[in-house]
Amino acid sequence: MARNNARKVVFPEKACPYARELAKRSKAFRLQISSRGETDADDGYQVDPFGELEEKTKVPGLTQRFPDRVLVMTSENCFANCRHCTRRGILGKKKIVDTDEALDSCVKYVLRHPKVRDVLLSGGDALVLSDEKVLKFAEAFAKLDQIDIVRLCTRAPCVNPQRITAKLATKLSKLKKIWVNTQFNSADEVTSQAIRACNEFISRGIPVSCQTVLLKGVNDTPKKMLALLKALSAAKIRPYYVFMCDDVAGIDRFRVPIEKARQIEAFCARNIGGLSMPRFVRDIASAKRKEPI
Ligand code: SF4
Repeated sequence: MARNNARKVVFPEKACPYARELAKRSKAFRLQISSRGETDADDGYQVDPFGELEEKTKVPGLTQRFPDRVLVMTSENCFANCRHCTRRGILGKKKIVDTDEALDSCVKYVLRHPKVRDVLLSGGDALVLSDEKVLKFAEAFAKLDQIDIVRLCTRAPCVNPQRITAKLATKLSKLKKIWVNTQFNSADEVTSQAIRACNEFISRGIPVSCQTVLLKGVNDTPKKMLALLKALSAAKIRPYYVFMCDDVAGIDRFRVPIEKARQIEAFCARNIGGLSMPRFVRDIASAKRKEPI
């Protein structure tokens, strides 16, 4: 277990209307409702287990944990505040890239580090920004020869699919290097609106991949996880990771024991083909890769 540097964490409940409506009839309901325990954050875990506030920040708003990729904080807001969020204690404290000068510093950092080939536009949620700003971020990195992948990290398909328009997807597709990373946690979230939103990207050649989090009470049975993987692959959304909850303070009620996770993984592997089968992993601060469970 990680060393405890926890403080009281205040992470307000917040959800846009679509997310609120969906939550009422979804297994993902728990993801939006706070609990008393989560604000104490006195559970032995850290507020910032990955050192994003300080040691991994290379220039304001840019963090690097692995040699080939960097994460750029485009915003500190989301369409819904997921209770299990890894950054629940640092959103609002972590620097975001909110000026042209700050973006320029990030680009210069990447140019000084030629091993970087993959840029994550994250936050918060990158798509809370205007189209103009999203495109400015995407273009700034996509135009660099060393960059192969610009990942747009967003839960908009799951919690606010109306945000994704044909116009935005068309402009992003012209940059050729965009991949969308999203996070569906329940088959209930894979609605017709969500599928339409993802298809705006997929039909224009932008891959959409899903990083699910294994969450108690949401998707922690073999049947629920299998249903999610089937729904994703039917929508041509690639399920590529299922993460154990991170070592972050305040999310204990969502943790699933590792043995149970292994059983769910084994069940899914027996019941679905490799194309639809994600890797079940843990993100450990000291590790050089995402660790298979
Ligand atoms: S959308 Fe992502 S960054 Fe925002 S609260 Fe949810 S998990 Fe955290």
